[in-house]
Amino acid sequence: MNSKIWLSSPHMGGTEQQYINEAFESNWIAPLGPNVTGFENSLQSYLANNVEVAALSSGTAALHLSLILLGVGQGDEVICQSMTFSASANPIAYQGATPVFIDSEPDTWNMCPVALEKAIIDRISLGKTPKAIIAVHLYGMPYKVDEINKIAQQYNIPVIEDSAEALGSTYKGISCGTFGEFGILSFNGNKIITTSGGGALAVKNAELKKKAVFLATQARDEAPHYQHSVIGYNYRMSNICAGIGRGQMEVLDDHVQLRRKVNQYYVTYFGNIEGVSVLQEPNSDYFSNHWLTAIYLDPKIHGEKSAEDLRLLFEENNIESRPLWKPMHLQPVFEGTPYYGETVAENLFKNGLCLPSGSNLTEAEMERIGTVLDTFFQLKLKHTFTY
Ligand SMILES: *Cc1c(COP(=O)(O)O)cnc(C)c1O
Repeated sequence: MNSKIWLSSPHMGGTEQQYINEAFESNWIAPLGPNVTGFENSLQSYLANNVEVAALSSGTAALHLSLILLGVGQGDEVICQSMTFSASANPIAYQGATPVFIDSEPDTWNMCPVALEKAIIDRISLGKTPKAIIAVHLYGMPYKVDEINKIAQQYNIPVIEDSAEALGSTYKGISCGTFGEFGILSFNGNKIITTSGGGALAVKNAELKKKAVFLATQARDEAPHYQHSVIGYNYRMSNICAGIGRGQMEVLDDHVQLRRKVNQYYVTYFGNIEGVSVLQEPNSDYFSNHWLTAIYLDPKIHGEKSAEDLRLLFEENNIESRPLWKPMHLQPVFEGTPYYGETVAENLFKNGLCLPSGSNLTEAEMERIGTVLDTFFQLKLKHTFTY
């Protein structure tokens, strides 16, 4: 059996181990230390745009802290993109608030500005002004930043920018993760860089970062004994994980280039196949890290079940591919929550597929993927290798 080809797997650069060794040598085996500070500084200068970064235990923790810092609580409503990973929406429930889900638009597959504005107007008319908007750069593709920000400003609702999949992506030359009042990053195992597990929160000033770190380290008041005036959390990143992160930052731009190369391979490949579109930047304002390459199979040409059939054929060949994120408004756990939009996200979910996209895919692996695609689309010609 051929070895497994993963959708997206950890890809070490080489220096990660050195930073971990330094942590051991200096005995900083704790959720603070020089690697945490170094990793934060490195993220800050990479993102630029004057953000302050707090390294945390996960992207989910960063989302949760954002909601807490915005004062979201019991009975509040928070708007959230429907087509996303559940981690975007779960922290709303942690706070006892209700998510209001929004459909995607067809250009970036992210939050539809038209549905967003409709939702805001409707919620306000019901006496429920949303407390925040969680917008997601899915698969690394920037959402319509100008449109979403304009609406958010008009109604004075803060944006939490879920940039978990979009480190290295930009919109009009500015880093994703710096557009919202809060920007969140994830360094889980399959993200563009990994710390084995981890995340970060990007905020606009040192005061906000201080508040985030305070909450992330059990909200301890200034006193010699342990005194607490608010509920705290244990959300800080470990100095060992941060060491991996420092090493990964050295290869982040390479990873972006490699993922974009994989994407280009698929774009070229599907350029010759009718009824398959690859998620692409709508214009040069958008620059995606192409964390995952996702395709949409037109059901009128390929039939209703073809994305799943393709996934199964990949699986037979020990290759991992994955359906697009199932929209949150279709998830049993969020049944009955308000939803605004049409069926864009639902159609994408039914007919879309994420293809192997790792920065560590070899030429031989790309060739195996190409052979499966040839078989599926019944290409008579032998696949011409262009990776
Ligand atoms: C991975 C991911 C998260 C959560 O990040 P973790 O570090 O795994 O907690 C949140 N939102 C999106 C869109 C993600 O892909």
